[in-house]
Amino acid sequence: EIAVFWFRRDLRVADNHGLFQALKSGKPVLPIFIFDSNILNNLEQEDSRVSFILHEVQKLHAFFEEQGSTLWIYHGKPVEAFKRLMKEYAVAEVFTNQDYEPYARERDKAVFQLLETDGIRLRAFKDQVIFHKNDILKADGTPYTVFTPYSKKWLSNLTEKHCQAFRSEELLGNLLQTRPLKAYHHSDLGFKHGPYEVPPMTIDSALLEAYADNRDFPAVGGTSRLGVHLRFGTLSIRQLTALALKHSSTFLNELIWRNFYMDILWHFPHVADSCFKPAYNFIAWQNSEKDFARWCEGTTGYPLVDAGMRELKATGYMHNRVRMVTASFLCKHLLIDWHWGEAWFAEKLLDFELASNNGGWQWAAGCGCDAAPYFRVFNPALQQQKFDPDFAYIKKWVPEFGSSAYPPPIVDHKKARERAISVYKAALDER
Ligand code: FAD
Repeated sequence: EIAVFWFRRDLRVADNHGLFQALKSGKPVLPIFIFDSNILNNLEQEDSRVSFILHEVQKLHAFFEEQGSTLWIYHGKPVEAFKRLMKEYAVAEVFTNQDYEPYARERDKAVFQLLETDGIRLRAFKDQVIFHKNDILKADGTPYTVFTPYSKKWLSNLTEKHCQAFRSEELLGNLLQTRPLKAYHHSDLGFKHGPYEVPPMTIDSALLEAYADNRDFPAVGGTSRLGVHLRFGTLSIRQLTALALKHSSTFLNELIWRNFYMDILWHFPHVADSCFKPAYNFIAWQNSEKDFARWCEGTTGYPLVDAGMRELKATGYMHNRVRMVTASFLCKHLLIDWHWGEAWFAEKLLDFELASNNGGWQWAAGCGCDAAPYFRVFNPALQQQKFDPDFAYIKKWVPEFGSSAYPPPIVDHKKARERAISVYKAALDER
């Protein structure tokens, strides 16, 4: 009889909670990975996230084979994968790490039910966040919906233990020793190589110490660029939190935002499809396809917006300050439904993460928990003056800026601002 460890968004060997528990179970452990066709079938054939995952899975496969074990890989629906696995092996228990997204919860329920019919337990551990589910609640037992009190409670609940590593890497002697199995390549999945540039996973303490001063300036490489590693679990949140505690409370605050949005998605899964504040579902969006295309391409005539949109398209990354400006511009200046922008970011961002992306979009649209009031409309020109004062970021991404080749503004700021406020107001007054 064996134990199985199911990798998902935790693609690392070291300090992996679920893997640690599996390796401690007393049964030889077979690690597995499923390329989930329910997810892959909705993506373009060339997707840099798929390439990133594939590369990490190949690394894990090679690593486990070096250990005399292997990584069992399947491409298809998770329930089918487990049916097959149970035919090939005498599975006693399945270990994994918790995933909080609505689709993941449904998937895990289906796998749980399948395994249960054979008397097999599926055990999921907390790994991608410091706190989850009901760990952080208000005194009356309900979840927080405002960030500042949430973060205070988060900090007061934090102990050294929460950052302690689960030393899975020291228990590898408990892996199942077995014959080699096939590795996977792009062609096995029907995908092409999607180019991506992944920043190194090293965390520089100097960067963290200067983070508070530099983080808002897109021309300065002042942020960690670790989003993708947190997204796919190639880096442990416990390790990063311990570093943040030592070097930068501002950086720690951003990690708390990440945890906050994951908790919001867990407690209020409806946010995945609709506004946290229901009245905002009735905004009379203009939804001009033409304007949307100009926003996507970065030809709105607002240089900070255009620079951000072009950076996103070219690299799969956009600086946080610019994410806020471009998102606000789409919703408020162009009056386009935030879901359109959310979907575009979801397709393009290498660090795309449902909870943070949705939270960021609802914040910008003004319809989320703890969002800015709707009448506060970012002024893209002022944002440029403050955060890219010498046009360094803009010149990099919009080289024709200042020449006749650059388009005039797609909308007048003052008029767009007034229009946004009146359309929002009308939707909210009616409720
Ligand atoms: P750093 O500034 O170095 O921050 C370190 C880590 O903290 C990030 O990697 C991320 O995990 C977390 N973090 C930082 N800021 C936030 C934040 N505001 N909310 C939640 N987590 C945060 N982040 C994503 O990880 N995936 C997304 O799909 C995503 N979409 C966004 C969409 C919009 C409209 C907005 C306004 C923000 C979005 N963010 C998203 C949050 C933030 O912009 C990115 O996490 C950050 O820019 C990633 O770059 P970094 O790793 O250099 O960040």
